[in-house]
Amino acid sequence: MKSAILITAGPTRERIDPVRFISNYSTGTFGYELAKESLSRGCRTTLVSGPTALKPPEGVKFIGVESALEMARAVKKELGRHDCLIMAAAVSDWRPLSPSKNKIKRELFPGTLELVENPDILKASGAAKRGKILVGFALETEDLERNALRKMRQKNLDMIVSNKLDRKARIFGDNETDALIIDKFGGKTMVKGKSKKQLAGMIIDKVLKFVM
Ligand code: C5P
Repeated sequence: MKSAILITAGPTRERIDPVRFISNYSTGTFGYELAKESLSRGCRTTLVSGPTALKPPEGVKFIGVESALEMARAVKKELGRHDCLIMAAAVSDWRPLSPSKNKIKRELFPGTLELVENPDILKASGAAKRGKILVGFALETEDLERNALRKMRQKNLDMIVSNKLDRKARIFGDNETDALIIDKFGGKTMVKGKSKKQLAGMIIDKVLKFVM
């Protein structure tokens, strides 16, 4: 039977009012590359994506979402029908506590915006794992390997892909990337100067070894 892979991509947008939001610089490129590589290996592929400028690859089941809460709902609903979840989305860690129904008038803005923490979608999936392969990403500024290992344990992951965020880092939007891929069996691969397509292909190949 075909393997089924669930991939999340892009940023989330957290509403302040009907015309304003909090978000991040994620372009979704890497998640969409993962979806393409998954499809090209014959996997049934679902892509849950926050808002991006990208076109969903042909053949994918596409679920467009906006906020972290919507993404969490979609992942919860879909995970049972898949063998693996790859969380490549840059989920906003916080959202405004009480988004306004109406546009907040400039002169009425109270000066501060109260935020609450969003659910950790990956951690919640790890807690209710039931045999699914879970892959997470980590953007670190220091101690790449130690932090990746800690995150893999904390979130009950099978694999973690870690990038270092430094002045030379080529992560958000850029095409070339360096990464450290660690799996829970002690496998460790340092990838340097590969395109996002190549790195995505390596990740899908590793995942398929776990699934089979
Ligand atoms: O803990 P940290 O945010 O660095 O972990 C990053 C990983 O966790 C990514 O795979 C990201 O998609 C996922 N994540 C999540 N829900 C959040 C925040 C991050 O699933 N609220």
